[in-house]
Amino acid sequence: DFESTIKVVLVGNGIVGKSSLIQRYCNGIFTNEYKKTLGVDFLERTVKAHGQEIRLMLWDTAGQEEFDALTKAYYRGAQACVIVFSTTDRESFDSVVSWKKKVEYECGQIPMALVQNKMDLISRSKVSRDEVDSLARSIRLKVFRTSVKENLNVDSVFSYLAESYVDS
Ligand code: GDP
Ligand code: MG
Repeated sequence: DFESTIKVVLVGNGIVGKSSLIQRYCNGIFTNEYKKTLGVDFLERTVKAHGQEIRLMLWDTAGQEEFDALTKAYYRGAQACVIVFSTTDRESFDSVVSWKKKVEYECGQIPMALVQNKMDLISRSKVSRDEVDSLARSIRLKVFRTSVKENLNVDSVFSYLAESYVDS
């Protein structure tokens, strides 16, 4: 029987927009305020992938990113992953490879998507388009350029993951 609920973990440095991405996708809201702790483990949304209903449980960190302190429980049973970095934060881009290794170490080979967020701030970009494309190619991840603020390309990240999951 096909398991139609999947656990999706979000990883990436702090302040890149992970909580905002989940809030936008599940609750349709965006706020400029930075809330370090969301206070919940995950938010949910159901999406249709290849004609099948998939319930996504989107797990959010509680701001432990800086300490590499995400617990085993956070990763346990994850079936898909979103790695997020920010257009305006060079360090967050440079950390993408180690995040991917960490997820592979904890979860094995699961469907993943790479998200370059804050595309509305492209004029203050710290990464070139070529660099991002070339990294994505070398680590074999599909890249989504999003603005959670302007609700640009957010849904496609999760549709892609749901479809990858159904295909796998
Ligand atoms: P997290 O630490 O990765 O969970 O990041 P948050 O979701 O808490 O977001 C950090 C800050 O970035 C907040 O002030 C958000 O309002 C802001 N933010 C998130 N996404 C965007 C975006 O697409 N564009 C802009 N301009 N700001 C964003
Ligand atoms: Mg957060």
